[in-house]
Amino acid sequence: MAATESEEVPSISKFLMDCSPKDIALNWLQATDLTKDVYHHLACNVPKIYCRDSNPNPLNEEMLAQHILLGPMEWYLCGEDPAVGMTKLEKANKSSQLCGRVFKIGEPTYSCRDCAVDPTCVLCMECFLASVHREHRYRMTTSSGGGFCDCGDTEAWKQGPYCLKHEPSGSDALEEDPLAHLSEDMIGRAYNIFAIVFKYAVDMLTWVEEDRLPSGLEPLEKEDTYYCMLFNDEVHTYEQVIYTLQKAVNCTQKEAVSFATTVDRDGRRSVRYGDFQYCEQAKTVIVRNTSRQTKPLKVQVMHSSVVAHQAFAIKLLLWLSQVIGYSGGLRRILCQVGLQQRPDEDHSSLVDKLMLCDSKLWKGARNIYHQLFMSSLLMDLKYKKLFAVRFAKNYERLQTDYVNDDHDREFSVTDLSVQIFTVPSLARMLITEENLMTTIIQTFMDHLMRQRDSHGRFQFERYTAIQAFKFRRVQSLIGDLKYVLVSKPTEWTDKLREKFLEGFEVFLQLLKRMQGMDPVTRQVGQHIEMEPEWEAAFTLQMKLTHIISMMQEWCASDERVLIEAYRKCLIVLLQCQSGPCDGEQPITLNMCGHSLDSIQYRVSQHQVSIHLPVSRLFSGLHVLLSKTEVAYRFPELLPLSELSPPLLIEHPLHCMVLCAQVHAGMWRRNGFSLVNQIYYYHNVKCRVEMYDKDLIMLQAGASMMDPNHFLMTILCRFELFHIFNNPDYGKRFGSEHTNKDILQQNNILIEEMLHLIMMVVGERYTAGVGQVSPDDEIKREIVHQLCIRPMAHSELVKALPEDENRETGMEKVIESVAYFKKPGLTGRGLYELKRECAKEFNVFFYHYSRADQSKAEEAQRKLRKQNGEDTALPPPVLPHFCPLFASLVNILQSDVYLYILRTVLQWVVEPNGHAWTESMLQRVLHLIGMSLLEEKQQLESANEDSDFTFNFTSKVSRPGEAPENSPSILAMLETLQNAPHLEVYKDMIKWVLKLFGVIKKMRERSNSTPVVEIEGHSVEECLRDKDKADRKRKAEIARLRREKIMAQMSEMQRHFIDENRELFQQTLEELEASSSTAPDNNPIVPDAALIALGPRQTKVFEKKQVVTCILCQEEQEIKVNNKAMVLASFVQRSTVLSKNRTRTIQDPENYDPLFMQPDLACGTHIGSCGHIMHAHCWQSYFDAVQAKEQRRQQRLRVHTSYDVENGEFLCPLCECLSNTVIPLLPSSWSPQSSDNSKSFSSVPTLSQWLKCTFQQLNVLRKIQEKQPASDNPSNASPEGIETPEGFRPDIKPKNPYSDSIKEMLTTLATATYKVGLKVHPNDQDPRVPIMCWGSCAYTIQATERFLADEEKPLFGHLPCRQDDCLKTLTRFAASHWTVSFLSVVQQHYTRLLSVLVPDDDKTQIPPSILDVDMFHLLVSLVLSFPTVHCHDFTGVSLAVGVLHLFHLVTMAHIVQILLTSSTEENNMDQESTDGDEEAAAFTLYDKLRQYSGSALNFMASGWHLWQYVKTGIMPYLRCSALFFHYLNGVPVPVELQENGPHHFELLCRYLSLPVNLMSLFQTNSDTIEPLMQRWCGAAEVQSFVKGERTAISYPRESNKLIDLPDDYSCLINRASCFTCPKSGGDKSRAPTLCLVCGGMLCSQSYCCQTELEGEDVGACTAHTYTCGCGVGIFLRVRESQVLFLAGKTKGCFYPPPYLDDYGETDQGLRRGNPLHLCKERYRKLQKLWQQHSITEEIGHAQEANQTLVGIDWQHL
Ligand SMILES: [Zn+2]
Ligand SMILES: [Zn+2]
Ligand SMILES: [Zn+2]
Ligand SMILES: [Zn+2]
Ligand SMILES: [Zn+2]
Ligand SMILES: [Zn+2]
Ligand SMILES: [Zn+2]
Repeated sequence: MAATESEEVPSISKFLMDCSPKDIALNWLQATDLTKDVYHHLACNVPKIYCRDSNPNPLNEEMLAQHILLGPMEWYLCGEDPAVGMTKLEKANKSSQLCGRVFKIGEPTYSCRDCAVDPTCVLCMECFLASVHREHRYRMTTSSGGGFCDCGDTEAWKQGPYCLKHEPSGSDALEEDPLAHLSEDMIGRAYNIFAIVFKYAVDMLTWVEEDRLPSGLEPLEKEDTYYCMLFNDEVHTYEQVIYTLQKAVNCTQKEAVSFATTVDRDGRRSVRYGDFQYCEQAKTVIVRNTSRQTKPLKVQVMHSSVVAHQAFAIKLLLWLSQVIGYSGGLRRILCQVGLQQRPDEDHSSLVDKLMLCDSKLWKGARNIYHQLFMSSLLMDLKYKKLFAVRFAKNYERLQTDYVNDDHDREFSVTDLSVQIFTVPSLARMLITEENLMTTIIQTFMDHLMRQRDSHGRFQFERYTAIQAFKFRRVQSLIGDLKYVLVSKPTEWTDKLREKFLEGFEVFLQLLKRMQGMDPVTRQVGQHIEMEPEWEAAFTLQMKLTHIISMMQEWCASDERVLIEAYRKCLIVLLQCQSGPCDGEQPITLNMCGHSLDSIQYRVSQHQVSIHLPVSRLFSGLHVLLSKTEVAYRFPELLPLSELSPPLLIEHPLHCMVLCAQVHAGMWRRNGFSLVNQIYYYHNVKCRVEMYDKDLIMLQAGASMMDPNHFLMTILCRFELFHIFNNPDYGKRFGSEHTNKDILQQNNILIEEMLHLIMMVVGERYTAGVGQVSPDDEIKREIVHQLCIRPMAHSELVKALPEDENRETGMEKVIESVAYFKKPGLTGRGLYELKRECAKEFNVFFYHYSRADQSKAEEAQRKLRKQNGEDTALPPPVLPHFCPLFASLVNILQSDVYLYILRTVLQWVVEPNGHAWTESMLQRVLHLIGMSLLEEKQQLESANEDSDFTFNFTSKVSRPGEAPENSPSILAMLETLQNAPHLEVYKDMIKWVLKLFGVIKKMRERSNSTPVVEIEGHSVEECLRDKDKADRKRKAEIARLRREKIMAQMSEMQRHFIDENRELFQQTLEELEASSSTAPDNNPIVPDAALIALGPRQTKVFEKKQVVTCILCQEEQEIKVNNKAMVLASFVQRSTVLSKNRTRTIQDPENYDPLFMQPDLACGTHIGSCGHIMHAHCWQSYFDAVQAKEQRRQQRLRVHTSYDVENGEFLCPLCECLSNTVIPLLPSSWSPQSSDNSKSFSSVPTLSQWLKCTFQQLNVLRKIQEKQPASDNPSNASPEGIETPEGFRPDIKPKNPYSDSIKEMLTTLATATYKVGLKVHPNDQDPRVPIMCWGSCAYTIQATERFLADEEKPLFGHLPCRQDDCLKTLTRFAASHWTVSFLSVVQQHYTRLLSVLVPDDDKTQIPPSILDVDMFHLLVSLVLSFPTVHCHDFTGVSLAVGVLHLFHLVTMAHIVQILLTSSTEENNMDQESTDGDEEAAAFTLYDKLRQYSGSALNFMASGWHLWQYVKTGIMPYLRCSALFFHYLNGVPVPVELQENGPHHFELLCRYLSLPVNLMSLFQTNSDTIEPLMQRWCGAAEVQSFVKGERTAISYPRESNKLIDLPDDYSCLINRASCFTCPKSGGDKSRAPTLCLVCGGMLCSQSYCCQTELEGEDVGACTAHTYTCGCGVGIFLRVRESQVLFLAGKTKGCFYPPPYLDDYGETDQGLRRGNPLHLCKERYRKLQKLWQQHSITEEIGHAQEANQTLVGIDWQHL
């Protein structure tokens, strides 16, 4: 046992441990008053175990409590050793058919959209995977904690209620008494002990006194030990609590954070322990500190024994949960104990007591007892019912407590309603037995704001945050009502009818209070002073939408209920309509010989409200009468005589007129609140129970009225009656230009009115109104959405109304109207309308917004043109009305209707008429079309004996009435056909006239009276002319459009590039890549002879290179003595190639980067967007940016996407993030590059050359020893030092570069040094050149790896920008020595060479050849060699030395490969017999074994060895080829630009290596043998061959992002099991997966913040510093979102590589469709990472979306 601080504890523990649980239990079995004995035992022992110190000691407490407190109880319960007894119980127990697994926060849950009774029915992952639903349309969500798996609940699933595990076996009887398995004794004992401990636990948890205990539990001696207990509330922030605690109890910040975290999680935590005084003092400080603005934090000073008993009470509840898990019988006993009514306690039970105290308990206690309820009462079918009754009885009280509490719903017992009310049988029982529906609605009404206006309607106050909070809580009642209503009854009983209708009546009372709320009056003259409150009312409406719909569905399922509900609704509606507007005298209206008395009401002058829920419910029920045919079967039961159609339409019409007037601009002074209301009125979330129902009410009313009267009422309410009644209106307004505003207003009102007529007659797609099915309705919605444009699944879902189960019904029908188009690498899958469905398009579809309408119109016209059709958009053929609505078609031929059409057409025909608009004409034509179609349809369906009354054609052929004598409508249309100003509508007019002709013919045929075709030929002629004109017009339009597009282009291009950057870049890169390689393909030398380096290097004559500066647009040639041109570029550290992510640069100031380790742990990468500028242009650009940013930052204190102070800027052309520039240089320059004249015969061998080199190095060293730290060897006449012939250390080469180029060389070098080592810039540091070579080598290696992974050929397939970048970078690295100290570089060279060839210097021991990356070594050697060679005037060319160096390093690498080759023989089968290479490899390996002391494994096969060498050396050869290509500019053989089998040989030839690589060793055996001996003898190599250390083997495998599972829920599950590593087993709130190393992190959370460079950072940022040198790619598992981070300030979100079946991502996991890995997208993500483009991507994202800049990325 761990030593504890207090002396006393161990002795007590020891004493306590000596007790025997068995003995205690035996005593209890004998007891006469068991309660007293148990209480006594607890009173004695609980305070001794719990709460002995300021901090809890859970391990110790746990152990003691189990032994002394729970042990005896278990003994007592079992009557024997519990270990034995419990096992017996478990065996006897039948496994439950209910899964009941309680969900953890973040755990994945599954629901089936096909089979779940409602969306709250969920399965745990295990059950789901074993269920039938995995093949269905399932939905996946993450649990917010609480709730349990419904597997096995037959009421929750329409089919497949059991998973394989929970399926009942055939022999089991369904209902079996679980007590049957227990003995009588056992039952008795269980009752006894459960009753005592449950009561004890309940009493303790609900105990409110701070200093006293219930009788029987008072401690024997009371010590002065108290706790200062801090409670959670939802008012104070984390920060406030932490700050207060630091002040009040004097703790560190860390302790305070820990306290605050626990308070937040458990609901309370003791923050101080000591005597009463001491604790009281802390309490005072806390209360004082937190009471300033809000109510203070809750703090109590509690006696330690009280706290101890409460702690044990919690433990007991957990214990009970556990014990009943063993046996269904015990569970039932506990349920019985819990629900037993106690006569001494007002007949309430323990369960009641807990529930009623719920809001007073702290979070932790609530959670525990809720879970106990779930595992006991809710798991026992019998007691679930009894519990449901208790819950319903207490319902009102519980809800009231909840509303007044401030904890979230998931911590309230009211949250259990979902477990009870959603069970259909329980819900039904509660409605009938407990009148639940009425209770819920009544409670809701009582809690809703109590203010009403003078008419008794709701009147909400300003919607403040506090109010919104309260309001939200009240709304949970609506949620409960929804649960109750969610499954419709399949059978009705009289009792159910009675109770439902009772509830319905209360519901009507609720709606009545909403009818007419928030009325508005038009503001004239002045703008309103304050926007009136509107949100609360709309929130209420929105929340009730589904309830209203469900009420109707319930009504529809029973005839008697429907009739009764209809009656009740009508009564309430009539009550509502006895409002104020009816008081005035009616007026009489006359038109076309019809006369109508109407009330005097003007929307523009009187009050109007958009809230009419009673009217709308009534119209909903009215449609149901038609749909269910009740109207035809029981007309005598309906109160039809009480209906007054004009009254019914009044209020809905006001709403429609209000919308029209708002649109006409008449309500501008009423502000935005009205605009918002109108918006929501039409919005998909509300329209079903608002706008749609208003229209239905108009249809219902009109169907019962004289159509002329209906239209006159409409004209009157639109305030247009006088206009149409005044024949001169058109002329008069045409001449009066004075009142343009009024004119325009009236025009819009007329348009809106015409639209309304269209809708009343034409909207027939509601089942019950028209003869359609619900599927037709959805199909039509989808068709009209897709007429706008192709849409993604989620877009369609958003545009369609959802039912209470969040279903739109779309999946059922979508296939019949649309094709699915799969997504590409970006974007999402889209549905495209089937062509044959376009004929159903109605341009005046009533759910289109104005924007939708014009978009759809444009798209459809375009489509028709593309298909070579005319551009008329005629009305579609409509389904028939149901009989109840059938009379509506008569509107289409009524007198007033014809009069309206004629009047408008007359205005159009009239010369100089101004009182009409094209939209008006369009609508009139549409209406005429509808009339004609109606007539045609009737003609077609008419049979001999039915006489059809519809005769539109003959009516429109008649001329107008006297005295006007105006032409007929038909005549006017014929006139208009040729009007030049109506070009756009010509096709439509043509269509109308054609249809007219068709109908005429049909009539003639049926009348069989031949009629002369009047206009036959003229039509034809006119058509021909028209065609000609048409073509001309189209050509002109096309020209104008082209011009317009050209003008827009330049403006848009920028915008376009921004938006489609990715696409743009890709195509650009492809273009560039193909063009850039073209000249290289045309070498002067035959391909086979191309050699990249050495004395036989192919001569190249570099073309003159002229480039343009993107800033000043001037051209310039790249020359050594010209002004510098530079590439914008970005230097970053990289771990992309790392084989060891744990190794980081610890002490950058003293770090020696000369030798790169073979694990490539941390490299420096340089990339560029490829855009070229003058160095001076760039400098002035950068200065300007810097100045601007400094000003901006001072003024606004904002972040930017780039850090100017760190030298960052955006490329002026493409806005790519950059932090330095690379100077462009002509091909590599060396002092004697022209000197190639010596014949090959005089070329020194390797050993000769090495000897000479060492002599030269010796001279240089001696000079340096004499004159350290000087770089001026010119006057250092090497006295006393023997110099070899031709070696002139006194001659310093002249630097050929212009000052400007020199400056840029230094600039880039310093930046590389600064970023690569993360140090302060210092261009004098000797490590600067090393960093330049290193970044060159690393960037080449990264490129080579990337090409290999992409399986692209080595050459010719890089995007141009990368090709340019590598060339420029290599040349820069090769030239950098010209601006550094020669002596420094010479020293580096000496040290580099010493790895391979030992020198005399014993002060610095070089690393062994196992610990050096050979490519880095090669690049550094080759690039530093000129500093030695520049003194050499012997005539040996630089190329000779370079080739020798290359051969030497290559041989070293082969040795490296053989040494580290896997010691077990690989299982490749030998493919050929051993040739020269194989034999040589065998010999060499044998030598190496010898040199290394025979510790290497014996390998028998030369073939295998040669394969190792060949595959192991490939990456090195490929890198070398890239390097020498870019260094010397030698073109590449064509074969290397394609994938092919002979790359090894081609590479060797290109690199001037023998094709038999092993022959290198034979040629140079004199030199290499002793060297190898030395290499193998090194201590590190020795310890490796002995197996004491590891080493990298070759080829190094490419790094990839981690493998992700195909099914996203696997990740969710993994994340839900992940616990925060710092706060001991807590669930992490934002588990985040590192895609580079696979580590799971606890992100965005206080608990896992660490300090990094003096700042607090979140787990992700901290992780990037070790895993990715500051750059990271993460997957936020709960959000399904990729996170990019770079440094502390940069980050962005990126779409995840997981898609649903519709090709869409689900960021935030809102939709819950199953998600699967999209491999292509993941590969793309990986490519971004491998190409070092993460930071760039972030930069672009932040530029595009400024809000990203403000996020505190470092806290993630
Ligand atoms: Zn389950
Ligand atoms: Zn199951
Ligand atoms: Zn299913
Ligand atoms: Zn320039
Ligand atoms: Zn650029
Ligand atoms: Zn990682
Ligand atoms: Zn954490």
